[in-house]
Amino acid sequence: MIKYNLKCNNKHEFESWFSDSKEFDRLKRRNLIECIFCQSKKVEKSIMAPNVASTKLQNKQKKISSLEMKNFKKDLIKLRKFVEKNFEYVEHNFANKVREVYYDKTNKKNIYGITTDKEKEELKEEGIDLVNIPWVEKDN
Ligand SMILES: [Zn+2]
Repeated sequence: MIKYNLKCNNKHEFESWFSDSKEFDRLKRRNLIECIFCQSKKVEKSIMAPNVASTKLQNKQKKISSLEMKNFKKDLIKLRKFVEKNFEYVEHNFANKVREVYYDKTNKKNIYGITTDKEKEELKEEGIDLVNIPWVEKDN
């Protein structure tokens, strides 16, 4: 379904729903569209109503199947395992450790841990960009 704002030659504006964008043209060709106020047949499409876009978006989001979600989660778990294997976990000490690594150029350690939003802001101001990764639980 698609909603159009319609406007007649007497400047009446109203909304109407169509099954798709072609239906409007089809009905107009057969003179089946008329102004709801003055019954004028000279009706044109005005701007499209903004809620059409969000309806479409919702449909798109719904299309993510549970299988895709499962695969996505599998990838995240793989990512987590990779990080756990190759990075040193420094827990809440992350902000300090990351500075150590950043300012000591010989220290090429990979680390991961937990920061507060405030720490993240401070690190960003120092030019240290962090990568946030979604952390999934492995057991479910
Ligand atoms: Zn009219």
